[in-house]
Amino acid sequence: MKLARFTEGGRTRIGRVEGDEIVDLSDVDGVGDSMRALIATMPQMRDALASAEGARFDLAAVKLENPVNDPQKYLAIGMNYQKHAEEARDAGIPVPDGQFWFTKQVSCLNGPFDPVVKPAVSDQMDYEIELGVVIGTPCRNVAKADARKMIAGYVITNDISVRDWQKPAFTLGKSFDTCGPVGPWLTTDDEIADPLDLEMMLSVNGEERQRSKTGDMIHDIYDQIAHLSRVMTLMPGDILATGTPSGVGAAMGRFLQVGDVVRLEISGLGHIENPVVAEDADATCLTAN
Ligand code: MN
Repeated sequence: MKLARFTEGGRTRIGRVEGDEIVDLSDVDGVGDSMRALIATMPQMRDALASAEGARFDLAAVKLENPVNDPQKYLAIGMNYQKHAEEARDAGIPVPDGQFWFTKQVSCLNGPFDPVVKPAVSDQMDYEIELGVVIGTPCRNVAKADARKMIAGYVITNDISVRDWQKPAFTLGKSFDTCGPVGPWLTTDDEIADPLDLEMMLSVNGEERQRSKTGDMIHDIYDQIAHLSRVMTLMPGDILATGTPSGVGAAMGRFLQVGDVVRLEISGLGHIENPVVAEDADATCLTAN
């Protein structure tokens, strides 16, 4: 099942993607406007969500939103593909032993086709395609063999990184507003035969920059869940960005520019595509609305 959040007629709700259409699920009992809440009730709701009918819209006629817009946590692992670890080391970023985790603040989350704002304070904004794992069940101290049962599904994530701010403080460089595009929808775990056998590809303005397979991870997604859950209770809706392969812009000295279009594809999950726009230099004090 592919569960999306979409806006149509000025109203945002949850729907099921079927081919080129989306089925509005907002009239189904138990479906509110929070994907996080829906994920938590998935064991009871799955059959109803899979079969319910509702208004149908062409996908092209609606705006797709970040499918998991209100997670409690957004964690990401660094240097988790061998060739990327090597290019990071060459760029002066120390590569630690074991799993290297950091936080992307949930405030950086962004929709699958929304603009990404290049910060005025940096010319080193960079892309990173990653398989996003969305947790389905509250869990702590998970054995690796049980880890897959804790997964609700998968999204494509772009771990956009502002490199000169990342060096002194990972969390800051990883958490600029709009620097967490996610989507295009939540593909539930039962739709994916093997999440460690997915093709991933990222391009900038049509030029391929990253291509790999999720099977090339150093620490696979089950090791990641086992490791993290030794520390904290993972909750439904939590997003784990599971590492990026080689080909990031920092390795080539080619950072994202205003006007660029970044497209990410992962087999079975669809694609996301975000244009890069300039920060409004006149807006010195913004009030969130
Ligand atoms: Mn990353």
